[in-house]
Amino acid sequence: MADTEQTVQGQAHSIAVLGGGPAGLGAAWKLRQETGFNVTLHEGAPLVGGNAASFDVEGIRVDYGSHRLHPVTDPEIMGHIKQILGNDLLLRPRHGRIRLRKSWIHFPLKPFDLATRLPIPFAFSLFFDALTAKFRAPKTDDPTFKTVLLGGLGKTMCESFYFPYVRKLWGKDPDELATTLAQRRVSGSSLPKLLKKIFGQLPGLKSPTTGKFYYPKEGFGQICTGFAGAAEASGAQIALNSKVVGLKLDGNRVTELTVETPSGPQTSSPDKIWSTLPISTLIRAAGDAVPEAVKTAAQNIEYRGMILIYLVLDTDQFTEYDAHYFPEAAIPMSRMSEPKNYSATSEPKGRTVLCAELPADPGDEHWDLSNEDLGEKMREWIKAAGLSLTANTVKVETRRLPYAYPVYNRTYADNFAVMDEWVASLENVLTFGRQGLFAHDNTHHALSMAYGAVSCLDEDGNFDRTRWAELREEFETHVVED
Ligand SMILES: Cc1cc2nc3c(=O)[nH]c(=O)nc-3n(C[C@H](O)[C@H](O)[C@H](O)COP(=O)(O)OP(=O)(O)OC[C@H]3O[C@@H](n4cnc5c(N)ncnc54)[C@H](O)[C@@H]3O)c2cc1C
Repeated sequence: MADTEQTVQGQAHSIAVLGGGPAGLGAAWKLRQETGFNVTLHEGAPLVGGNAASFDVEGIRVDYGSHRLHPVTDPEIMGHIKQILGNDLLLRPRHGRIRLRKSWIHFPLKPFDLATRLPIPFAFSLFFDALTAKFRAPKTDDPTFKTVLLGGLGKTMCESFYFPYVRKLWGKDPDELATTLAQRRVSGSSLPKLLKKIFGQLPGLKSPTTGKFYYPKEGFGQICTGFAGAAEASGAQIALNSKVVGLKLDGNRVTELTVETPSGPQTSSPDKIWSTLPISTLIRAAGDAVPEAVKTAAQNIEYRGMILIYLVLDTDQFTEYDAHYFPEAAIPMSRMSEPKNYSATSEPKGRTVLCAELPADPGDEHWDLSNEDLGEKMREWIKAAGLSLTANTVKVETRRLPYAYPVYNRTYADNFAVMDEWVASLENVLTFGRQGLFAHDNTHHALSMAYGAVSCLDEDGNFDRTRWAELREEFETHVVED
């Protein structure tokens, strides 16, 4: 593979960005800021934002599950978000609760709250187990998510919190999952890391943004609509309802892109294709040109889906908490958020929405249930968690995300490597973003991939693949913030 590509002399390059989530929008905007290239973004949905979008339910702005912008966001990206959103970007205190052994513990964890709320024998065994975990963990040459966490946190913490939560989120036993999940998904994966997080909340040790998050007044999706507006204002074209269905190849170059639109199929021949689609979707779009081994890898890689249930209640506010977390197996939803509490709005009066995140896959027991049935189930789960629910249901809406989480099962790395290598062999195609790199990343990570990609492009359109490979190594170190 050549380090750089040849440019088309004398013409402005055209770049088709595929997907209008944070990664695609960040790239479209940054490309127009840094280059003179023509940029067209194709988004299959009728709105921008991908999994990080917002929409209205009964006059209340809601997200696809709990979304927060984390203060660890790279300062350059944070600066641009602040510039785009201005005073609409709020800094809010985190105020959630986790249900642990029938007690409610503040989340993020706080030392005083933990000390006073956890039953003493349980707290003692949590601490003792975590302290001795390293010596008692099963010895193995074939580590998994399970063995890594047992060695880092001990049995009590794993069995009362992480393992049931993981079974619910990914629909798999912790032994079926790769070690990557522990490294990238569990920021407190060992006792020292966990203690650092907990004691980092103490006055004197905490930074001005510890225990806080950024949130736009008009919902998390305002970050994406902001980037979309800025990208269009600087000359990018954003095509909604423009679903990528075909890529035509000539040797190792994509020569034609086909999208399905409400007015029928359309084709174009951009110089470059920058894709943030799920990597398996990109591969399927290339049809018969794809080698059999790559097709098989695309079939075998797994994404976990999610049903979002929006329960509208006839009350101003359900609780003061932004989110409730449910690790236990008996309650199928993993988290429930109250969107009005994220932006601290009291409007509209007499209405609030609760949003349940229910990890699920097409064909599961919950996937095809009606809104009403899911709403009823959600009410039962809320009550089973010991929360009082007296307000009436006004309405139930649902959304289904087929690509909520990449599943790091024990074969994912091999399957991803086969697909990644083939995409890298196409000289004018780049894959990035959460779905494109199969990375369980936050929005700020997706944006930093976009910015990184643009930094690899010179003004003649040469893409520096050596630098991109270095950046890809950096992306591997991203740790997801909850
Ligand atoms: C439940 C949940 C909670 C989360 N909470 C947080 C949080 O608190 N903070 C945080 O920072 N991040 C959070 N995230 C992660 C965040 O949503 C992602 O990091 C972000 O959306 C990734 O952006 P992306 O552009 O890489 O991918 P996506 O947002 O998935 O965007 C991909 C886009 O491609 C489009 N697409 C797919 N196929 C086609 C096609 N064939 N043609 C055209 N377009 C297509 C999709 O419609 C989508 O718009 C959460 C995610 C989930 C699921």
